[in-house]
Amino acid sequence: MTQPFLPFSKPTIDEATIAAVADVLRSGWITSGPKVQAFEAMLSGYFGGRPVRTFNSGTCTMEIALRIAGIGPGDEVITTPISWVATANVIIEVGATPAFADIDPVTRNIDLDKLEAAITPRTKAIIPVYLAGLPVDMERLYAIANKHGLRVVEDAAQAIGSYWKDRRIGAFGDFASFSFQANKNITTSEGGCLVLNDAEEARLAEKYRLQGVTRHGFDGIDVDVLGGKFNMTDIAATIGLEQFAHIEAITAKRRMLARHYFAAFGSGFEAQSRAQLPVADFEQTNWHMFQLVLPERITRADFMAKMMERNIGIGYHYPPIHLFTLYRERGFKEGMFPVAERVGRQIVSLPMFSAMNENDVERAVDAVKSVLQ
Ligand SMILES: *Cc1c(COP(=O)(O)O)cnc(C)c1O
Repeated sequence: MTQPFLPFSKPTIDEATIAAVADVLRSGWITSGPKVQAFEAMLSGYFGGRPVRTFNSGTCTMEIALRIAGIGPGDEVITTPISWVATANVIIEVGATPAFADIDPVTRNIDLDKLEAAITPRTKAIIPVYLAGLPVDMERLYAIANKHGLRVVEDAAQAIGSYWKDRRIGAFGDFASFSFQANKNITTSEGGCLVLNDAEEARLAEKYRLQGVTRHGFDGIDVDVLGGKFNMTDIAATIGLEQFAHIEAITAKRRMLARHYFAAFGSGFEAQSRAQLPVADFEQTNWHMFQLVLPERITRADFMAKMMERNIGIGYHYPPIHLFTLYRERGFKEGMFPVAERVGRQIVSLPMFSAMNENDVERAVDAVKSVLQ
């Protein structure tokens, strides 16, 4: 008997969410309105009272943070090559120059020693990424930023509900950007939010989000900066509010599934297969993904095809950004970031979503073991 296809990710939308969205659709107010305000207030509370604004993606959030920080032509911004391409694209979008530092082979996050070594007099900001929800060493990150006078835009797209020691990611630090895209731990279908430092930054974020407009009185309107069209709808905010009611349970479930993955692989798995498991952390990461780095003897495409034959979906996050054509045209090439190139070639994401159960984990692990045998 073949078992049903197990995707690598799947959103969970409950009936309460569907009913709440239906209510919004009937209300006559479907774009940004009271639900967006309620979602922002809820998020601000979640992030320790810091100002939060919502947007229609977790990409424009980072672009707007860079604009608020005044970063543009002539400035350099350093990030990791192992992220979704959005992380580096926003640097180009504001007219600045992207730079990369290689990753740490164990955490797969940016290597902070290499980051510090990559700082030049033109460097103005850094964009760390918390791959799969695992933060970098946040004390070290901010020590480097403070020492060199750099702004930080945390690409915490995958890290909602993650912690650094006993502090929630987003509740401290400089800008923190989150995504609510469909595959993330909490979704609004598409969307994102930016945690800001003060009321002035929040006011600027509102302008950049909606054509640069400020209003006053009944009919007063002015435009003094070039903004875009990045607002979240009340439909999306309603999904977010309903999802957020379950964030603790979602994170706990993912941690349980991750523990089960480690138990099912067993302690001899890495030595025997030469595959590399993720960091076994159950306090800080939200387990947005469970990623393996495959041994060199199998190509990722071959592995994915063989997992597909066993009805298991596999994702890959991510190919190294610096080897995309757009980045090669800017002078990046093979050999510049060897750890990122190796990991980017062999990394795979196993099924991980909150509606999975332990049996699904065991199916995925059995399939991995049989393919790598
Ligand atoms: C999802 C994601 C983004 C982009 O978020 P969108 O909401 O899809 O724009 C950026 N960076 C990382 C690391 C992501 O995982």
